Amino acid sequence: MNTFKSVAELRRRVSEWRSQGQRVGFVPTMGNLHAGHFALVELARQHSDKVVASIFVNPTQFGPNEDYARYPRTPDSDIAGLAAKGCDALLLPSVEEMYPFGTIGCVQMHVPGITDILDGAHRPGHFNGVAQVVARLFNMVQPDASVFGRKDYQQLQVIRYMATEMSFPIEIVPAPTLREPDGLAMSSRNQYLQGDERQTATFIYQTLCFMREQRGHGFPIDAIEAEAEQRLTMAGFSVDYAEIRRSDLMRAKSPEEPGLLALIAARLGRTRLIDNLEFDSA
Ligand code: AMP
Repeated sequence: MNTFKSVAELRRRVSEWRSQGQRVGFVPTMGNLHAGHFALVELARQHSDKVVASIFVNPTQFGPNEDYARYPRTPDSDIAGLAAKGCDALLLPSVEEMYPFGTIGCVQMHVPGITDILDGAHRPGHFNGVAQVVARLFNMVQPDASVFGRKDYQQLQVIRYMATEMSFPIEIVPAPTLREPDGLAMSSRNQYLQGDERQTATFIYQTLCFMREQRGHGFPIDAIEAEAEQRLTMAGFSVDYAEIRRSDLMRAKSPEEPGLLALIAARLGRTRLIDNLEFDSA
């Protein structure tokens, strides 16, 4: 696997591949890679001949009081892991390469509507930063397909919207959520969990399953949401939201609607965790 710090060099490599008729898949990440990320690389491989990953901890998607400075950075083990998974190229851009005019004076990207709800409401500006960096990465790498985890369901929907709206000729491929054996969704932020918090964190997935079960019994959506929030609060979480939504993230009118999912964001100590569960998937 070749590691590129310069976009120009990566582009040369990608255009060589494309001129040979090879399809290029792309997996953007913020690093500190775990099995969930590596599964994305494997899925990208199924959709393409060559796989490019990127590692960039994007400053513009973190709020002023969020964890940008302490976000775990482990480039050496990430590079070894990607190479072992047969990734073909890694882009490791600097902040200067990504934002040549700085992060204040740079071109902004705003996806309306969907970025104002759920995580967007609790992390103002977060999805603008995500859309901004993903648009830049798409231009830098120019892939044919790009893989995004369903774990960050709202992010996936924002990217889909942006890619359609901006006519990026890129297939957006969703990847299933990888979980620990006890159900906790894998996340780089899980390592912030201290002591008993790791065990308590499994309650998020249990609550998502509870919400699915209650929906199966036909309980009203707002009653299920209220009960879920109360259970999480009793378990020690500070809840940002515990909601049932349609697949387009608009509010559901009835628990009978197909394609519903439950989404939770909650804080445990200093750690903010998010997860979701699609009710009708296997
Ligand atoms: P991150 O490095 O956390 O920004 O994530 C990079 C990509 O990996 C995003 O598309 C995430 O949705 C995806 N991802 C993170 N955790 C998981 C997981 N447990 N299962 C599947 N995909 C994941």
